Amino acid sequence: MGKKYVYVWNKNRVEGNSKMKDILGGKGANLAEMASLGLPVPPGFTISTEVCKYYWDNGRKFPEDLKSVVEEAMTELENVTGKKFGDNKNPLLVSVRSGAAVSMPGMMDTILNLGLNDESVEGLAKLTNNERFAWDSYRRFIQMFGDVALGIAHEKFEEALNEVKREKGVKQDLELDANDLKKVVELYKKLYKEEGKEFPQDPMKQLWIAIEAVFGSWNNPRAIKYRQINEMDKQGLLGTAVNVVAMVFGNMGEDSGTGVAFTRDPNTGEKKYYGEFLTNAQGEDVVAGIRTPKSLDELKSINPKTYNQLLEVMDKLEKHFRDMQDIEFTVEKGQLYMLQTRSGKRTAAAAVKIAVDMVKEGLISKQEAVMRVKPADIEKLLHPIFDSEELKNAQYIGKGLPASPGAATGKIVFSADDAEKLAKDGEKVILARPETSPEDVGGMNVAEGILTSRGGMTSHAAVVARGMGKTAVVGAEDIVIDLKNKVIKSNGVELKEGDWISIDGNEGKVYAGKIKTVRPEGLAGDISVLLEYADEVSVLGVRANADIPRDAKVAREFGAQGIGLCRTEHMFFGPERINKMRTMIVSKTEEQRKAALEQLLPFQRSDFKGLFEEMEGFSVTIRLLDPPLHEFVPESDEQIKEVAKMIGISEEELRSTVKDLEEFNPMMGHRGVRLAITYPEIAEMQTKAIILAAIDMIKEGKKVQPEIMIPLVGNVKELTILKESVKRIADELIKENNVDLEYKIGTMIEVPRACVVADQIGAEADFFSFGTNDLTQLGLGFSRDDYGKFIGDYIEKGIYEKDPFQQIDREGVGRLIKLALDGGRSTNPKLKVGICGEHGGDPDSIEFAHLVGLDYVSCSPYRVPVARLAAAQAAVNYKRGKTVNY
Ligand code: PEP
Ligand code: MG
Repeated sequence: MGKKYVYVWNKNRVEGNSKMKDILGGKGANLAEMASLGLPVPPGFTISTEVCKYYWDNGRKFPEDLKSVVEEAMTELENVTGKKFGDNKNPLLVSVRSGAAVSMPGMMDTILNLGLNDESVEGLAKLTNNERFAWDSYRRFIQMFGDVALGIAHEKFEEALNEVKREKGVKQDLELDANDLKKVVELYKKLYKEEGKEFPQDPMKQLWIAIEAVFGSWNNPRAIKYRQINEMDKQGLLGTAVNVVAMVFGNMGEDSGTGVAFTRDPNTGEKKYYGEFLTNAQGEDVVAGIRTPKSLDELKSINPKTYNQLLEVMDKLEKHFRDMQDIEFTVEKGQLYMLQTRSGKRTAAAAVKIAVDMVKEGLISKQEAVMRVKPADIEKLLHPIFDSEELKNAQYIGKGLPASPGAATGKIVFSADDAEKLAKDGEKVILARPETSPEDVGGMNVAEGILTSRGGMTSHAAVVARGMGKTAVVGAEDIVIDLKNKVIKSNGVELKEGDWISIDGNEGKVYAGKIKTVRPEGLAGDISVLLEYADEVSVLGVRANADIPRDAKVAREFGAQGIGLCRTEHMFFGPERINKMRTMIVSKTEEQRKAALEQLLPFQRSDFKGLFEEMEGFSVTIRLLDPPLHEFVPESDEQIKEVAKMIGISEEELRSTVKDLEEFNPMMGHRGVRLAITYPEIAEMQTKAIILAAIDMIKEGKKVQPEIMIPLVGNVKELTILKESVKRIADELIKENNVDLEYKIGTMIEVPRACVVADQIGAEADFFSFGTNDLTQLGLGFSRDDYGKFIGDYIEKGIYEKDPFQQIDREGVGRLIKLALDGGRSTNPKLKVGICGEHGGDPDSIEFAHLVGLDYVSCSPYRVPVARLAAAQAAVNYKRGKTVNY
């Protein structure tokens, strides 16, 4: 027997289950699972994703035996439904739906009511005693089939439909009767002819064309783009599956309808049923935003029994799948049918709330909760809101539905293409459309936010924006978005293309003009609970890079467990300090320099004390001066004049000193430990300041753990020289003050040579901290300041997958790190090791840090929450010490 390509489900047997998403797609796998649970699911079968792969791998051909197995499955479907495909008395109609392993909403094709033709439409009319319904179904089928399978423009069908409505003088589709719909069918058929296409009357022919169209849609441009944007190409997807499902009808009258529902609110995460329902309609009417749907309560009022049954099914599904479900259902003459269930897309806030609530409800474990939220979601929650002062004076112009949270401001564009063009030039844009469609995803992706005048919370714009984490306001019905004249009109205000507009996705409000956005402060309740779970699960510690007490405070609030890097150079730029620093730099003798340093010492001492206080009880790693000295010297004539006068030397002399400090390659010049080698008194002053500040803490009865870090070490002798002087000064001060203070001396590892001789360096150091910015710069030989000019070409050509300054280049820099780690720990098993370059806040690099066995990562305060979650997820996904995938 050949490979199994088709999996059926019906009341007699079910072949698939929810674990088979890879080959059945999400929709097919879950339909099978629901059928196994005994839920009301119309029968059907799934043609596997492997067929899609075969189709594309073999020049758009199907496996030889597919035809016969599909025919057998159709016969089985006929038997269980008691209907016959193409019959003119009791016809079986099917839907043909796409469904990949990972949901791609609206990106691929679906055809409903397949099996109707000129004869079976009469049969359906008689059987249901509902002529209007039969002809409505037929015209929908011809339209969808033409649009989806044969590529006839959707608008042309809409035009034909409008023609009949105009003739009759009505506005709504629902006002057309059977005779009108027959006219529509005639016009549609004429349209096929004009387009040189044939509408097949043979249902089997219809079925095969539809199956091929769905498999073909896997590689339509919008699906390809969607996969690119969502980085799905690495997920090893085989393609889409095709689900052939017996039709049930939501358009059979006022006791029928169709809807989508969530088991919890997908915006807030609140535990309440949430959904939308349209009476007398088929599924695409809801999603396409053609009619604005009503709430689920509508169903309750029409048919409370079905409503209650729906709630029961929803509860059962959520408990079974142990996650918030997004379902599609149809009510056919009061009878409920489930058409789909999947884990629902949700806003970042809802993701966090649902994860935390489900732990509290005992539905999932803390580990699972941590896996339910993407690190990027946490980032989104720290997303901007409007500045409250500016908001007070903002010009409010209208309101829509708050479809996706955040606040966004930008210039108005009316097409996705324009959005992409302007965004490329660095402009911030808001994409305004009556509604969006899958063709718009590229533009949506680059826009700051999306505004639509039509559609509900489950319309395309709403669903896609939420998934992208873009601010969106949809269905703002008072706001006229006039594409033709490129203006927005609302409440007497008229805005043109290029004018600024601001939208609030939390409240659904729209304002004319530009409003400043600000980041929210701190972590709200549920996030901090989730991150506490994360800390319980993590092995890696997360520290922050912070130079001033204010940043250290934010870092603590975000849950940093210490400071992994304080760049002391940032402390010298204050108005009272910079000239003292400059005096020190231009000093000609050691005495002069020492005198200047003596003046800087009190500033440094109080700076460090501030950091220690904010981080009481945690390690604080303070790095000795790192940048080349010319970064501090005066540049303009005016500054030179002022400084020369202040420090009592001639302008000429100062100018020549400044000139002397110039370097061809400052990044590889006189910086880092090299400064301390030439001018030991700088490092001595800083050591004094650190230790004195720590002693101040101890004298106040506070806990302190100072760590002194030497930058840019490449040779162990650099470290031994520095270590000797740091120890001498520190121990003397400790003795003098008669306190019990422990401190550590360690080094940054950011020069490739240091990685190679890490065994020697490790023997002398208490800790290593990888300066992955410099290690990437020196490891790849890419200048940190210039690589932007060519990295785009490198990524485009696949030489590096991602910007190596954002995400650790595992196979190069990663191996250097591993080499250094093994070397260091071979001579010093207690060596503490972390990362303090920018990579410390990048989830992929954090996963790498976990895998190789580092102790902590350190990143900017705002990235600490993301890093905490990423560290926990790495711990759940991988055991430490597992071979790293280079
Ligand atoms: C580094 O090089 O990674 C580092 C943290 O130091 P800086 O960015 O200050 O050079
Ligand atoms: Mg560095």
